[in-house]
Amino acid sequence: MAVKPRRRAVVVDVGGVKVGGDHPIVVQSMTNTDTVDVPATVNQVMALAQAGSELVRVTVNTEQAAAAVPRIVETLDKFGVRVPVIGDFHYNGHILLKKYRDCARALAKYRINPGNANIGRKTDDNFRTMIEVAVANSKPVRIGVNWGSLDSALLTRMMDQNSKLPEPKDAREVTLDAIVASALESAKAAESYGLGRDKIILSAKVSGVQDLIDVYRALAAVCDYPLHLGLTEAGMGNKGIVATTAALAPLLQEGIGDTIRTSLTPAPSGDRTEEVIVSQQILQSLGIRSFTPQVTACPGCGRTTSTFFQEMADEIQTYLRDQMPKWKSTHPGVETMKVAVMGCVVNGPGESKHSNIGISLPGTFEEPKAPVYVDGRLLTTLKGNRIVAEFIKILDEYVSTHYACAS
Ligand code: SF4
Repeated sequence: MAVKPRRRAVVVDVGGVKVGGDHPIVVQSMTNTDTVDVPATVNQVMALAQAGSELVRVTVNTEQAAAAVPRIVETLDKFGVRVPVIGDFHYNGHILLKKYRDCARALAKYRINPGNANIGRKTDDNFRTMIEVAVANSKPVRIGVNWGSLDSALLTRMMDQNSKLPEPKDAREVTLDAIVASALESAKAAESYGLGRDKIILSAKVSGVQDLIDVYRALAAVCDYPLHLGLTEAGMGNKGIVATTAALAPLLQEGIGDTIRTSLTPAPSGDRTEEVIVSQQILQSLGIRSFTPQVTACPGCGRTTSTFFQEMADEIQTYLRDQMPKWKSTHPGVETMKVAVMGCVVNGPGESKHSNIGISLPGTFEEPKAPVYVDGRLLTTLKGNRIVAEFIKILDEYVSTHYACAS
């Protein structure tokens, strides 16, 4: 089954990155440094951008953070890092955006959570203030509803209305309806305050996989705004990766989603760039975008009694990923290359022949030699203890001869 084309009519320009229409689905991420710590935040934004994040969001939660934003953007600029920086605002965004004009100007987009912009107020003045700052600075906005901070007045109103129906919906359905309604009502209000349709991206994040699928299907059916997809609070490690993939894949397959984020909780001292790699891998596995050459490796079994081929697969995947920042500009198209690293002759040669380059390592009791296939033909057979280095040399030669050198 092919991935359905996306049908968002609206295209939003976020600091030069197009989101929506038939533009490539954009990968974004968020820092977890204290925004006030300019060097730490700059370093993390650079790492995320280097890993392939096309938009990076930072929290702007205090006056000090708002004051730090222009310095962060300037420093990135000095280092030649042009990734658009987005500000994440909650509760006090109306104050910060009004007071810290350089911050409002430096950011490429504002993320506004309508559920907590007007907490405890009868009017939406705070939301309106943020929209007016966006209009004045010609900035796009993501109206980001999150069910953890859903507008309680709206939910109560919808629950009351539902209870009067002859056949009331269950609480889950009403909550999901309220999430969609909050996003749409906020977008309508933003437009009435002067924000162009081409300046609005919507998100409606929940933490349950089935809930996320239902809510985005509903949202996609009733509006044209580009949609930011993400499973909020996905969790740590495998759980977070699997849950995010399970939630995003069906939607992306249906053509829903214009920009994505994987909200992983990193392990203590873990690498924040993992969330970028997971998002890229989801898109690449679905055949929607290519970011880095893919390594097909067999899982290994009793025919391989050493971990040599697993280590080799890992070494080659790491090597390829490390080369990508350079290759992306020098050898466009290399990201579509397929490499196979297989543990023995059972599936090794077959899988190798289906890849651009493949190697089958010797399994237990097999002859100690590793046939290398290039474009389906046996090129050479490697032996000895320099197999990895020699294979990488073949890879390098393949890249330089098969992918146009854009010097
Ligand atoms: S290719 Fe060989 S080593 Fe790998 S899983 Fe299959 S039989 Fe086992």
